Amino acid sequence: MTPAQLRHTAITDKNSPAQIQSSNQTVVVSVANVPDDATGDEETPHGGENGDSKERNVMALSAIEWCKWTYNPFRGCVKTAGGCLHCYAEVNYSVKMHGIEWGTEDEGGTRKRAALPYLKQPHRWNTESAPAMFDKSDDRPRVFCASLADVFEPWSGPMLTVAGIKLFSRRTPHILASSSIPGSSHPPRLLQTPLTMQECRDDLFDTIRQTPNLDWLLLSKHGFFSVPYGIESANDGILKMWPKGSGQNLEHFKNVWLLCSVSDQPTHDLWTSQLFKCGNLARLRGLSCEPLTGPIDLTLSLPWIDWVIVGGESGPHARICNEVWINDIVNQCREAGVPVFVKQLGRIAVVDGVERKFVHKKGGDPSEWPRRVRHREYPKPLNA
Ligand code: SF4
Repeated sequence: MTPAQLRHTAITDKNSPAQIQSSNQTVVVSVANVPDDATGDEETPHGGENGDSKERNVMALSAIEWCKWTYNPFRGCVKTAGGCLHCYAEVNYSVKMHGIEWGTEDEGGTRKRAALPYLKQPHRWNTESAPAMFDKSDDRPRVFCASLADVFEPWSGPMLTVAGIKLFSRRTPHILASSSIPGSSHPPRLLQTPLTMQECRDDLFDTIRQTPNLDWLLLSKHGFFSVPYGIESANDGILKMWPKGSGQNLEHFKNVWLLCSVSDQPTHDLWTSQLFKCGNLARLRGLSCEPLTGPIDLTLSLPWIDWVIVGGESGPHARICNEVWINDIVNQCREAGVPVFVKQLGRIAVVDGVERKFVHKKGGDPSEWPRRVRHREYPKPLNA
């Protein structure tokens, strides 16, 4: 199946305490690690300067089990594969609350940048987290960026404020328009350069660089393989977008975990070969197998990844997730010594051949699961 067929076929078509099995290979933490005042209903799809105080409060403390905060410096995206079919960000959050259209620029898509006060939040989190700076603890605070976009979407259209006003660059020098017109009688005027998503990304990496007490989890589909933009290699996507360090080499980030988001065997096989090319960009490389829509043989990726997240789909139109698929991933990871984090079994799960609905609407309470899939492990802490 070609990548385009893959996209078309696929797209059209507070935790209670629970006993978690431990592992010698990994750090295992309690599942009750979600703050009481978490925002409550986030998902992990793949996910301006208006000073909106409501925006500053939304999506800060996270309900996602494996991170403390979520951060969305820009919002909006375009579907690229079957995992995007019921994109949480599109269906449940961005369009309703922020009027962002999903799609490419030609399809009428829009992208919005968060307000400046929101953009500065990680600096406060970094200060709060100071004691955690590269120590041996297993609880360095993790930030999930971004739950309402794809960090490495190669969008080249305008970036808008939350209010829908076009934004201009702060980095690119302004040009005197009349200087290129010899003898022009018009007074000089400034031509402003539109803000690009790449500039927003560069700002994000500045923030990541300036917040060494935080671990940044970057999950992406588009950076590895993007059907709408005709990108079939990390060389055209993520490697082009990644910041350069000294000697023009791609910069290594000690506080970044880079994860490829896949849902089934074809996306795993296509995209993880691109993740492999990302070599030493980040401290950790991993897979987010969510929403899991079929079994995945991880043979190709397990030898060189550091972490796997897995989970079934949630939301009103959730596809069935067979617990056998999750258990198989757990077993493969444990055999390979790779930590695995089972986030949820999904809204509709098949367990022991029978369709089950859980009290927890996303199937996210481990106490409702068979013991064999109760695994919530993290990679070893830095310097451990
Ligand atoms: S890549 Fe992620 S954010 Fe973008 S449409 Fe797909 S699921 Fe949604």
